[in-house]
Amino acid sequence: MLEPRRGLHRILGQAARCATSWWLICTAWAVEPWHDSIQVDPSFPYYRDRSTHSVAAELRANGYRTLRYLVTSEQHINTALVAACRQIGLRVCYGTFGNGSYATRDLPAGWEAWRMRLRDPFARAPDYTYLCMNHPEYRRWKKAQIVQTLQRITFDGLEIVECFWPAFRGPESPLYGCLCAHCVAAFRREFPDEPGVPNFDDPAHPSHFKTNRALYARWQEFRARSVASFLDEIINGPGGVRRRFPKLPVAIWGIAADVPAPVITLRAWEGIDGALLVSTVRPDLYVLQTDWPDWMKPDLPPDYPLRYKPFVEAIRATGSRVPIQLQTDIGSAENCRRGRAWLRACELAARRAGMNAGVTAYEYHLSRDIYESPPRPVTANARSSVITLVFNKRLDAVRAADPAHYRPSSGEVLSAKVDGNLVELTVSGRPDSITVSGLADDPTRRLFKNHPPATMPKPIKLAVRWN
Ligand SMILES: [Zn+2]
Repeated sequence: MLEPRRGLHRILGQAARCATSWWLICTAWAVEPWHDSIQVDPSFPYYRDRSTHSVAAELRANGYRTLRYLVTSEQHINTALVAACRQIGLRVCYGTFGNGSYATRDLPAGWEAWRMRLRDPFARAPDYTYLCMNHPEYRRWKKAQIVQTLQRITFDGLEIVECFWPAFRGPESPLYGCLCAHCVAAFRREFPDEPGVPNFDDPAHPSHFKTNRALYARWQEFRARSVASFLDEIINGPGGVRRRFPKLPVAIWGIAADVPAPVITLRAWEGIDGALLVSTVRPDLYVLQTDWPDWMKPDLPPDYPLRYKPFVEAIRATGSRVPIQLQTDIGSAENCRRGRAWLRACELAARRAGMNAGVTAYEYHLSRDIYESPPRPVTANARSSVITLVFNKRLDAVRAADPAHYRPSSGEVLSAKVDGNLVELTVSGRPDSITVSGLADDPTRRLFKNHPPATMPKPIKLAVRWN
């Protein structure tokens, strides 16, 4: 049983918490434009059949200042959403995948030659095609694709995500790669005195990775350097991002997992060497992606970033002061849905672990709050005879279109028009306040469907601001 807290203990506890908060505020770096950001993939149904303005308004109503647009097809970027966000003062960063593509239809003829060769040639990542970061034509094409996208659309930042080599568990995984002809040739050029790349299939082979440890160490070095040179070429190389857009903030991603000897192990398995990456590429932000075996733990505690401290220390040991941020997943699997309270606790732990740029997450609408938090009106702005209510989430459009759910302090509601999380009320008179009751969210727009709608438990009254 816990000892009851007496007055002095409580005060001391509060003082300690205040000191901790101040310490966190003083050491927290507001890294623009990555501060208070959330990843969004607008191809999900949650964002469809509503205006782009309503999506932007919902993100802002939830306190976010930056949308990190995770682009799965450069040919289908929702430019209207980018414009709508920037119009209301949100920043928008462009995120693109480095080690492959979700949209092979975007790739030019002959792209099949860019495929990574995995240890099991028939193994595939679901919906995703790994492309070799050592293939010179893929590098050239990827650099041009990013530059052209930045020329076409105004963004506030760029991040290149997932430049690891597959895969978690390293050579034990059938997805381990890349073992293509370009990688083999490049390794031979770099280490001409070696007999070739390690063997990963035959334990009796003299070059087997468990037998010839020196060869395997050089192979690990080669993979880590390959990632660094891929990113360096795109960001700092001729015709690259910094030459064309010298003021654009650039972030790159590494990866982290709670495994024994984490820094060495992840470098061996996935070729990510954070210290090498930040010293070579000199990004404006380094993001530690949570590897899937960790975020898929149903009971993942929010303080798990503390286990990632060695990844931060490895970078700081080089003298680098690059801002570091944690990226986590808040609901790609049904039993791993996490809400804002969990995310806040995770943010505090990440900062304690030295990730001074806090936390960002994949992806906004996967949050547990989209399943459980009741709808709540956040603002009521009025002009002429129309009051626009901004809610914290997407509403059940049929229910929200019924004027009976809105009671103005004077006059009456003549009609209600619903757009995602926005409701436009046409009113008679000029009410000072409006009381909203009985609304529900729209469970059909969630990723996982077998959860009931969240309904308002009690009426909420808010002041109307007339313009
Ligand atoms: Zn390759």
